[in-house]
Amino acid sequence: MTIALYPGSFDPATNGHVDIAKRAAKIFDQLVIGVFDAPPKKLLFDTEERVSLFEEAMADVGNVTVRTYKGLTIEFAKEISASAMVRGLRANSDFEYEFEMAMMNRNMDPSIEVVCMMTRIEYQFLSSSLLKEVCSLGGRIDNLVPRHVEKALHEKLTVA
Ligand code: ADP
Repeated sequence: MTIALYPGSFDPATNGHVDIAKRAAKIFDQLVIGVFDAPPKKLLFDTEERVSLFEEAMADVGNVTVRTYKGLTIEFAKEISASAMVRGLRANSDFEYEFEMAMMNRNMDPSIEVVCMMTRIEYQFLSSSLLKEVCSLGGRIDNLVPRHVEKALHEKLTVA
């Protein structure tokens, strides 16, 4: 059985993340979405919220679980017996960073393969950070996130 880990901050999960996760779930027997507990960036949603928002988005897919993890991603991949790590690639913005991370991870454990999947064209310019900025200014985001994520963003950003 092949298990893959899709790690990230997912603050919050967007349609770009959901699309990668659904496509990866078709390739691997089991997909574990790993929500990194404390990424080095300012977060809008806490860990439990980021987990449950992604969980709800994947509710109709049977072979996916969403878990939180601390520490090195590669250690969590080993802990769950993953043979691959999935990452999403947008043109221009992601390649150098993903390449560096993949090399660093391979240096720590060459047995875990990094599989990069290309984004869909409509999510090419979508990032969680830009999404939050646009939403906080009242811009349209309904075609970029699942409905429940849009609702959570509006609630969080109106209260904030
Ligand atoms: P990070 O893991 O760097 O904190 P994110 O949580 O935003 O970043 O993203 C997790 C993974 O999803 C990364 O591989 C990232 O490149 C990918 N990703 C982010 N946005 C998109 C998108 N719009 N389309 C496809 N993949 C994406």
